[in-house]
Amino acid sequence: MESNYPFSDPGISQGLVREISLLVKGPVRLMEVCGTHTVNIFKYGIRSLMPSLLDLVSGPGCPVCVTSQKDIDKIVALAKFPNVGILTFGDMIRVPGSEASLRDAMAQGADVRMVYSSMDTIKIAQAEPQKTFVFLAIGFETTAPLIAATIKRAKELSLRNLKFLSLHKLLPPALKVLFEGEGVKIDGLICPGHVSAIIGALPYVPVTQKGIPCVITGFEPVDILQGIWMLLRQVHEKRALVEIQYSRVVRPEGNPKALAIMGEVFERCDSEWRGLGTIGLSGLRIRDPFGDLDAERVFQIESPPSEEPKGCRCGEVLKGILKPNMCKMFGTFCRPDNPLGPCMVSSEGSCAAYFHYTQVGQMGDGDQSSKGGK
Ligand code: SF4
Repeated sequence: MESNYPFSDPGISQGLVREISLLVKGPVRLMEVCGTHTVNIFKYGIRSLMPSLLDLVSGPGCPVCVTSQKDIDKIVALAKFPNVGILTFGDMIRVPGSEASLRDAMAQGADVRMVYSSMDTIKIAQAEPQKTFVFLAIGFETTAPLIAATIKRAKELSLRNLKFLSLHKLLPPALKVLFEGEGVKIDGLICPGHVSAIIGALPYVPVTQKGIPCVITGFEPVDILQGIWMLLRQVHEKRALVEIQYSRVVRPEGNPKALAIMGEVFERCDSEWRGLGTIGLSGLRIRDPFGDLDAERVFQIESPPSEEPKGCRCGEVLKGILKPNMCKMFGTFCRPDNPLGPCMVSSEGSCAAYFHYTQVGQMGDGDQSSKGGK
């Protein structure tokens, strides 16, 4: 059937697949660092269209997955405070902590509610003024501006019973750590369209200085194929620059208004990532003028010593050095209906994407990063 929608046009897609095949002369390894890319690459069958020498791996692109075990434990501890309701995006509810998940806390009487937008938290807090609510502010640069706007609104309304636990992560500092020294070896980076719409192109320059070309890529099938083709063209021509495939959305300077509101409400802080450890200035904490809305300052949160789930290798999956189906737990002790680690819980997690879109244990392409790489 003919498509009128150019971003999924079969003719354009087939042409790009042909061009990609012509550019792959030896092992090449490309990484994406965005949960939506992870899922769409599977959903549109893009891996199956690629030459066998081209390896597509996922990096730390799922915000729920990169949240540290310590922070998950802190969230569960917070849910046990009397007269406190936790407001969160859905995926976080099932992520296992060292002793329990939010779902377990709910079974023991904790009030945990799912929201679809951070602005919903205002209405919830206004409707129940006798209860204190904490919103779990989790995400990358994409979600931070909207949450900053929500914090500003709560301040304007003098809403005393709404607090925010900021566990935001910033992508560029993590990329720096990921690729420095003897770190992860890739030949090109498929940069996230949504995050880049906020931060622009400049933050990827340090990645290109390590000889890794970057292409900011959209999410439709043609976007992804064109992004891969643009990367391969750079590899072939031995260039390493930041290019923008997703130019209908992303400007080189990003979104100054979104960056301004983020800067007004948040300041950078060190942050602990699952798999990557503590990374300097890779998180966002709430600035002093909004300190009365900061759950970290309002509550003395004590959680048990953190322990990652035994046998779970999410840390390696998040660095792109292990394919999910190479984890011994994959599809057996760890499945979406009974997840062991966050990468199997989150709808954007690599393990969940592998599970949903491949035949369990039949992939045959899972190695431990031996393929490609400079
Ligand atoms: S398959 Fe499960 S146990 Fe293995 S890395 Fe993924 S989430 Fe962790």
